[in-house]
Amino acid sequence: MNSAKRKVFGCDDIRKKILSYIPSRCKSCHQKMNLDKKYKETAYIGGYRDYEWRGTECVKLKGYCNWCYYYVFEYR
Ligand SMILES: [Zn+2]
Repeated sequence: MNSAKRKVFGCDDIRKKILSYIPSRCKSCHQKMNLDKKYKETAYIGGYRDYEWRGTECVKLKGYCNWCYYYVFEYR
């Protein structure tokens, strides 16, 4: 590998890291969020036992997880 190739690869790697880091963390508790799944707002009933639901980004408040929205901020 020559130095130019290595440089490009390095930048790409860093960019990927930044992109995957910033949007996947809750702005309040900084836990990693599951952005693939979306739960409807009514799913909060009993949802505190569901770790997958807790770690999913809230549909009503972008950038925050369901746990923070319903149990930390107590929005309903
Ligand atoms: Zn959170």
